[in-house]
Amino acid sequence: MQTKELLNTILENIQTKVSPQVYDAYFASLHIVNIQDESIVLGCKNSFTKQVIETRYFQTLLYSVKKVTDEKIRHIELVVKSTNHTGTKAENLFTTAFNSFQKHTLQDITQKVLSTGLNPKYTFDTFVVGSGNQLAHAAAIAIVDNPGSAYNPFFIYGGVGLGKTHLMQAVGNAILIKNPNAKILYCSTESFLNEMIQSIMKKTSNTFREKYRALDVLLLDDIQFISQKEALQEEFFNTFNTLYQAGKQIILASDRPPSEISHLEERIRSRFEGGLVADIQKPNLETRIAIIQNKLKDRNEFLPEGIIYTIAELVDTNIRELEGALLKISIFAKTNGNVTVTDVRSLLGDKIFAVKKKINPLDIIKIVSEELNIEIKDIRSAKRNYDITYARQISMYLLKDVLKLPLVKIAKHVGRKDHTTVMHGISKIEKLLQSDPNTSRLIQQIKSKL
Ligand code: ADP
Ligand code: MG
Repeated sequence: MQTKELLNTILENIQTKVSPQVYDAYFASLHIVNIQDESIVLGCKNSFTKQVIETRYFQTLLYSVKKVTDEKIRHIELVVKSTNHTGTKAENLFTTAFNSFQKHTLQDITQKVLSTGLNPKYTFDTFVVGSGNQLAHAAAIAIVDNPGSAYNPFFIYGGVGLGKTHLMQAVGNAILIKNPNAKILYCSTESFLNEMIQSIMKKTSNTFREKYRALDVLLLDDIQFISQKEALQEEFFNTFNTLYQAGKQIILASDRPPSEISHLEERIRSRFEGGLVADIQKPNLETRIAIIQNKLKDRNEFLPEGIIYTIAELVDTNIRELEGALLKISIFAKTNGNVTVTDVRSLLGDKIFAVKKKINPLDIIKIVSEELNIEIKDIRSAKRNYDITYARQISMYLLKDVLKLPLVKIAKHVGRKDHTTVMHGISKIEKLLQSDPNTSRLIQQIKSKL
């Protein structure tokens, strides 16, 4: 492939992964400086672009480069180099001077980016939208377009690990990309209060308020931890009003709605409720699957569909736990070279599942009987034709997998005398689960009916 052609293919690939604004701002001007062995050197138009790509989009870039080169290129180095052509002496002198000037001012900007308290990984690109967070997401997007006026304040609430912090920071990061000079601050309510207390003690409340007043956007996380102390609520109210009246965007996140934050002064509560209050609900199965798929794509990893489905089905509490579970399974799959649905269930401690629903052995056999159209008495009989044996083995497998029954008990439930037949039956199904999609579909279908 020609260099030019290679560059275009890489850029095309990146375009499918980032928003057009991000692409135009950082990637469109990339060019190839050198290729050697497994490495590529890419030129960025200035050090800010280099910094942004390195801190926020490096994995995206690396993924695209590896993908379009079939992993022939596996390393990327970014350098600051404005164009390919060697200019005249004067031009070069100018470029050097300009670059050194830029280096300083851009370092300042970069410093600003770092002092916002924002985590660059929390972006809209990585936020999966589902029915549980649709409204909050739509409002967040609207705020990026019109900070300070669309919805102010914006109050997000919902259970732990459901994406409140991610979403509020995505707003901050997106505003910063649109306007690198925007003054944004993300902080926990706890550290905000600490700073406020310091300022009261040192009698510098005005300076404190001025500092916050200079912001364009304030993101206050975990506002449920606002102090119960009257004096602090008073000071908080004043600071809040100062910002609000100056048209600064305020975003608050909490694990409960304003009405349920105890000891919150009525006037503050009504301020919180005066903008938009949006909740984030638990993600449904579909969204959980999409989140897993997204994370895998991000990390350039692969897991079979049945495994993804099982993880999503088992972990329905919150997204943080979903990520933890996924990581556990990925590590297991990497170290063992393979992972089965049974592995996933046992790794994720599926016992709760059976206990929670109080499933009994007969329920399982009944559903197997219905699904496969084999009578229960045949499953328990001595008959050995293929269909009946298969239904019996499926029952054995499920009694073990779902109820964790000991083999001797399983033997009794399916009318066998000794447990070695059961052991054989279960391992037969375990093997089929790896090779036969019909069997894994059947197992999933039966489980969903339990
Ligand atoms: P909260 O602040 O509500 O406790 P976080 O924002 O810290 O939750 O989210 C927990 C984890 O789940 C983070 O790693 C975050 O990136 C991820 N996450 C949350 N919501 C989503 C989503 N909609 N799409 C993708 N990842 C998400
Ligand atoms: Mg949080």
